[in-house]
Amino acid sequence: MEEWSAQHFTDSVFHEKQVPGVGLSPRDQAAEAASLPIWNPSEPGDDAVPCSDPVQFVLARRKSRQISVRGIKVGGGAPVAVQSMCNTLTHDIEATVGQIGRLAEAGCEIVRVAVPDERAARALPEIKRRTSLPLVADIHFDYRLALMAADAGVDCLRINPGNINGEDRVSEVVASANDHGIPIRVGVNAGSLEKNLLDRYGGATPQAIVESGLRHISMLEKRGFYETKISLKASDVARTVVAYRLMAERVDYPLHLGITESGSLRTGSIKSAVGLGILLSEGIGDTLRVSLASDPVDEVSVAYGILKSLRLRQKGINVVACPSCGRVQIDVDKLTLEIEKDLAHIDAPITVAVMGCEVNGPGEAREADIGVAGGHRRALIFMKGEKMGLVEYADIKKNLVREVEELAARMTVDSVDAPGDGDT
Ligand code: SF4
Repeated sequence: MEEWSAQHFTDSVFHEKQVPGVGLSPRDQAAEAASLPIWNPSEPGDDAVPCSDPVQFVLARRKSRQISVRGIKVGGGAPVAVQSMCNTLTHDIEATVGQIGRLAEAGCEIVRVAVPDERAARALPEIKRRTSLPLVADIHFDYRLALMAADAGVDCLRINPGNINGEDRVSEVVASANDHGIPIRVGVNAGSLEKNLLDRYGGATPQAIVESGLRHISMLEKRGFYETKISLKASDVARTVVAYRLMAERVDYPLHLGITESGSLRTGSIKSAVGLGILLSEGIGDTLRVSLASDPVDEVSVAYGILKSLRLRQKGINVVACPSCGRVQIDVDKLTLEIEKDLAHIDAPITVAVMGCEVNGPGEAREADIGVAGGHRRALIFMKGEKMGLVEYADIKKNLVREVEELAARMTVDSVDAPGDGDT
């Protein structure tokens, strides 16, 4: 097996344009702030300029074939789709429908449910009828459940053809997927690799994971089926990253990224950010799920956080907050949390800066669309680094939230997710 080479991951993958600064020296900023009028944001003609991030952070996305999960394009340069998985009992229709609704509200684009038995499979038509997200049925071993799920109208099957005990059964599942026009996700998990691969490779190595995936894929290809996406998950970052890199060199199917069983909200988010961040920064990955031992809605929020950090998606508020120090004039921690919560409903890509003092605040956050910097007795509001006026401490949150909502309303829906490579 070839060693993966980092050669292609070079500076040429990234292109950053330097943007002329708009800030003054800290001394000048402080002097200017002191002379500013009390800010009245409702004054006529006080239009803010919509966000247009000047920094180009273009990633060379791996070229993959494109499949469609009921209208959500995966691969082929489409925006990296955000997935999650219900942790309800699928046969509990009320709970599952409720959770899918909350995931949709959070921005989830594809949702998966486990189908461990017939009771779960029988719930699928009702779940489909009452929800709007593309639905993936996750099935292990029992090909009859896959047939039931396809008949129920699910939008994708997650099943490994090598695990359903027989060529005829694989043919039946493939025929059903073809009849219903739905793709199949092959999902290899390091914890459930074939014994002969474990023996040959001495464990669940990245090479063993990839070979398992290739075996499953070849069973589909033998039947002329290519509407496939692949996941290769291990619970640690290193194996996962290497496995995806290897697979990315072998096939052109879209890749579903994830670090499986990554842990709690905190540890899982860190592992996912590192692992998925490495792969995405190399252009690998067409859809992702952040697996957390937490509310699935958290998975969606963390997924967008990762994608926004890499400028692959720009959905929602990006809060820039200073760590605060001995110069701090306002409660940055509290204000940041409150603003993130109060602006969670905003889809438009707006950067909001919360800076503890006016000495460095506007300069440090000059690329923010809207920001605040703590000052003596009052706080300074600024837009795109330009000082707008002063507000009382008690009014900071109210003013910021209102201005962001008004700015979001002015931004076009098209600017939320631009199409094309990198979805910048
Ligand atoms: S913005 Fe001000 S308070 Fe915040 S870290 Fe910088 S100097 Fe300290």
